[in-house]
Amino acid sequence: MNFSDSEIVASVLAEDYDIVEQAGDADLILINTCSIRDNAEQRVFKRLSELNVHRKNNKQLQIGIIGCMAERLKEELFNKGKVDIIVGPDAYRDLPTMLKKDSQTNINTLLSEIETYDDISPVRYDTNGISAFVSIMRGCNNFCSYCVVPYTRGRERSRNPQTIIDEISRLFDDGYREVTLLGQNVNSYCFEEIDFSSLIASVASINPLLRVRFATSHPKDLSDKLIKTMSNYPNICKSIHLPVQSGNNDVLKRMNRQYTRQKYLNSVENIRKYMPECTISTDLITGFCNETEDEHKDTLSLMQTVGFDYAYMFQYSMREGTAAHKNMCDNVSNDIKARRLEEIIRLQQELSAISNKKDIGKTYEVLIEGISKRSQNHLSGRNSQNKVIIFPKENNKKGEYVQVKILSCTSATLLGSIIEN
Ligand code: SF4
Repeated sequence: MNFSDSEIVASVLAEDYDIVEQAGDADLILINTCSIRDNAEQRVFKRLSELNVHRKNNKQLQIGIIGCMAERLKEELFNKGKVDIIVGPDAYRDLPTMLKKDSQTNINTLLSEIETYDDISPVRYDTNGISAFVSIMRGCNNFCSYCVVPYTRGRERSRNPQTIIDEISRLFDDGYREVTLLGQNVNSYCFEEIDFSSLIASVASINPLLRVRFATSHPKDLSDKLIKTMSNYPNICKSIHLPVQSGNNDVLKRMNRQYTRQKYLNSVENIRKYMPECTISTDLITGFCNETEDEHKDTLSLMQTVGFDYAYMFQYSMREGTAAHKNMCDNVSNDIKARRLEEIIRLQQELSAISNKKDIGKTYEVLIEGISKRSQNHLSGRNSQNKVIIFPKENNKKGEYVQVKILSCTSATLLGSIIEN
């Protein structure tokens, strides 16, 4: 979301500023921030002090904090480092006025119930020219007890579908071949009569050569209709990121996730019934308030049962202002959190290796994204299942589809060769 928001900010400021490659050449530096974990915020403070060094050579330099940390910490940020301007995620349209010399204000953290930036065409300044993020909704109404997002990004609101279709049609005409529909909770998208299944079907109908992905979905909103729509359109990618967070019902209840282990497993079964080739990835938190050893073991057993292809795994970090902060105690020690995290990472590495090994011998349609980082003689792309595939370069260009047979794998990558152009 922040990557996509930065493209919106670049567009809002395009009349007054050009983008430069090096921070040392900039007159304005905006750090787009995340508050989801304490670790993310500490990295921003470190980056802020590194960037402040550039003030020595450029007395005009302005440095701003935008995004979730701006929203969460507000004026407090002025005391935590040298910062000129603070702007929350719903106030980016105000940036050009706030940056003027005679501006009366250097902080705007007002949240909106309607802002979706739907009329802004994002400046795609750091992409491969093939894949783009398209924001379709903002905010979240779910209030998971550990999460600060509903407080930093406000209430859920969906973007007008016609503006989404127009933006993606233009991207396709400009050579883009893959879009990822973005939102805190994309599958609760709802604009008048249009739900997420209808929207994704319309996007997929723009052109069969356009691949469509989405992130992130909430398990409670994963409808049968969406699964069937995904299975009906070959260009809707067969990969779902479905954050489970824990495998234990009591922990899920304390987290206010609004589904049970069984309901989650039913959804997985349904995905596999309609799309046996679909990969499933997840997010996991270790050491949430009061998490016992048995509850942690339930997470390990759920991972085994599902056989996730990939996972993002974190230690719980309590965030001020959340329901967990008000009503619970962060009482699992850091050592135990770290040990549990290590256990789930180790298990996930085994599961990812099993998932990749299963692909050896199969042939996939791969969208070429460019030259491989490993070697100039290899190309890199992804299959519908969102796995990175590296293969020797022939006469192909990025943006083309090729059939690649998988010959071997590492834990993170599939290696193959083109069998047909
Ligand atoms: S669904 Fe839960 S975890 Fe995701 S952004 Fe909303 S409150 Fe946070």
